[in-house]
Amino acid sequence: MNTVYDVLIIGGGPAGLSTAYLCHKHGLSYLVLESGKAIFQGIANTYPEGKLVYASKPKDAPEPFMVDELRPPDKPVTVESYLQYVQHFVQHENLNVQTDVAFEDIRDDRDGLTVITSKGNYKGKKAVLSFGSNIPRELTVYGDAKMVAKNVDDPSKYVGIKTLVIGGGNTAADVIINILKAKREVNDHQPVYWAHMAETFDVNKETAQRLGEEILLGGNIRLLPGSMPRIGEVDEEGVDRLVIRINVFQQADGVDVYHGMSFPMQNVIACIGSQGPVPIFDKLGIQSIACTAGVCKIAREGERLVLLTSEFETTRKNVYVMGGAISPSYMKISEGTIAEEKHPNLIYTAINDAYHVVEAIRRKLGK
Ligand SMILES: Cc1cc2nc3c(=O)[nH]c(=O)nc-3n(C[C@H](O)[C@H](O)[C@H](O)COP(=O)(O)OP(=O)(O)OC[C@H]3O[C@@H](n4cnc5c(N)ncnc54)[C@H](O)[C@@H]3O)c2cc1C
Repeated sequence: MNTVYDVLIIGGGPAGLSTAYLCHKHGLSYLVLESGKAIFQGIANTYPEGKLVYASKPKDAPEPFMVDELRPPDKPVTVESYLQYVQHFVQHENLNVQTDVAFEDIRDDRDGLTVITSKGNYKGKKAVLSFGSNIPRELTVYGDAKMVAKNVDDPSKYVGIKTLVIGGGNTAADVIINILKAKREVNDHQPVYWAHMAETFDVNKETAQRLGEEILLGGNIRLLPGSMPRIGEVDEEGVDRLVIRINVFQQADGVDVYHGMSFPMQNVIACIGSQGPVPIFDKLGIQSIACTAGVCKIAREGERLVLLTSEFETTRKNVYVMGGAISPSYMKISEGTIAEEKHPNLIYTAINDAYHVVEAIRRKLGK
């Protein structure tokens, strides 16, 4: 906790790693904090298997890729080989990356910033937010206990226990398939409960087929449609638990009777979709502006866009944001005016943002 880094980088995707590489090249001290189990976790999670990665560049963009080392090749390669290449590059350059650490907050200190994470605090002069656009939605329940998993790194963790998966889409179904598979391999018949607020589930045909196969091979799955997470409580033994309402019986006397189940939070995985980063900006006190009629061409009316200088600094001093986190547009302050600025969500944009931010930081720190 004594090290004060020049730059703390949140997120190890194309934007974050380009920032890291440029810091490394120019002698700035830095640390990448990535919530996934490996770098480029955002891409690994969202690209379909075998997808080709294109070195797309917007037609009107004047600059080349400013970090050639991390750009996808001109001849498209599969996502698997791009990821492998980047892993080797990061190892070869010995970039300073910590995985499995989730960013939570930033505090201002006398001598800079403190970045608060799930694994402790880090001090830095500047913070770069490069956590992309896919921020998993938090489970909102009343009560003290709230933290549940949002995806599954290791399905075998759920062997031997009754698991609850929340969410009605493909991601939830995929998680269930993986857990059922892990259970099947060791002959574990403990059920996986699948809860969704709506009465019907919404998965594509291919996922449904894979799920059906797991069920026919012995997978023990219990559906809980129309159920609603209610309370996060800490029981007498100090275990965080989630109470989920699975049925309501409305009585003539106005008193509702309901059935509920209570699961230890560590048995719960919530796959309830993702959202843009605006709630994080709000939490950090970073200003954003709502698009009013006629002001924005890309964002819809009412959507809020983060306010940034031309160097990607937010209204919170020393905190920068870049890449997918500010796509497809943001509000740019330039020469006394504020206007919506187009910002396509591409690897090109993420890499080039990093270049401009590191140049700005170098000027400010005199390095
Ligand atoms: C299916 C698909 C196909 C695409 N194909 C192409 C293509 O062919 N060519 C192209 O140029 N672009 C493509 N894109 C877009 C491109 O992937 C994005 O523009 C790019 O990944 C953005 O980079 P980024 O570093 O800003 O964000 P991301 O790549 O999203 O990286 C953000 C990182 O931050 C981490 N993170 C998130 N929250 C936290 C937290 N709280 N704490 C710590 N770490 C956190 C994530 O795990 C992730 O690793 C595609 C996108 C998708 C979804």
